[in-house]
Amino acid sequence: MITLKSAREIDVMARAGRIVAGTLALMREIVRPGLTTEDLDRAAEEFIRSHEGATPSFKGLYGFPKTLCTSIDVEIVHGIPSSRRVLDEGSIVSVDVGAQLEGLHADSATTIGVGRIPPETERLLAVTQACLVAGIAEARVGNHVGDIGHAVQQVAEEAGYGVVRELVGHGIGTRFHEEPQVPNYGSPKRGPRLLEGMTLAIEPMITIGNPATKTLADKWTVVTADGSLSAHFEHTVAITADGPRILTAA
Ligand code: MG
Ligand code: MG
Repeated sequence: MITLKSAREIDVMARAGRIVAGTLALMREIVRPGLTTEDLDRAAEEFIRSHEGATPSFKGLYGFPKTLCTSIDVEIVHGIPSSRRVLDEGSIVSVDVGAQLEGLHADSATTIGVGRIPPETERLLAVTQACLVAGIAEARVGNHVGDIGHAVQQVAEEAGYGVVRELVGHGIGTRFHEEPQVPNYGSPKRGPRLLEGMTLAIEPMITIGNPATKTLADKWTVVTADGSLSAHFEHTVAITADGPRILTAA
């Protein structure tokens, strides 16, 4: 069932979203070669809990042990922060985070270059961000979920990149994952109609090579099957009468 949120609920989600945005801004500030993904996780959890009533959404969700998902290079999503994972110069790390406030969630992700990164990697990050912007632009009353996916897919494929199929965006609210699913591919005017009060996590996962995935033995980390680089950007967006409202903007 797709739930519609009241203006009050959307405002609470926007407050949770500002905490999420602040967390990602902090990550962009501190990421550097030599840091571990555990260091990032500790800083993120401390930041979220420094806001009264706020808790990390991921910790305990389906048994996930940490505040962040940190996914490096060929890892697409759901990497588990670890004191053994050191950030290397030239790598990219996708940082995905959710926060809960007053029983409502917000969800956002960004992919950060570690030190200096190669031009082809820069291009992957720029295109994946452009995919997110294109998807959000379609998050309007009267459009369909397929319009979002179609826009994301067009930008990615025009750039020669792959769109991950096995993982998708989602509705979000009192539960972290709600209906509808929001694929990063699709056809215009297909899928559920977008209504005022829907809140969606739109999250393109884009690969330089083939977008087929596999899951590592830790049962969480999803990687590209062909070992190609991948990037991930995400915002939580409300469908409003005035157009898309990004709830996880800084
Ligand atoms: Mg996320
Ligand atoms: Mg999400």
